[in-house]
Amino acid sequence: MAKDVLCEVNTCRHWGDGNQCQADKIYIISHSSHEKAQSSAETDCKTFEAK
Ligand code: SF4
Repeated sequence: MAKDVLCEVNTCRHWGDGNQCQADKIYIISHSSHEKAQSSAETDCKTFEAK
């Protein structure tokens, strides 16, 4: 289980100083056109909410 989630997406309302995600939990999804993601570029944070 990830204790500290570091994230650079400072346009998200869960983003905090020091690039610390402030959400209680986050949900990461695959947006790969393949069956399984093959790289980090094929994953996304579904918990993102614009400020
Ligand atoms: S919810 Fe996702 S996008 Fe938003 S700060 Fe946390 S990790 Fe980043």
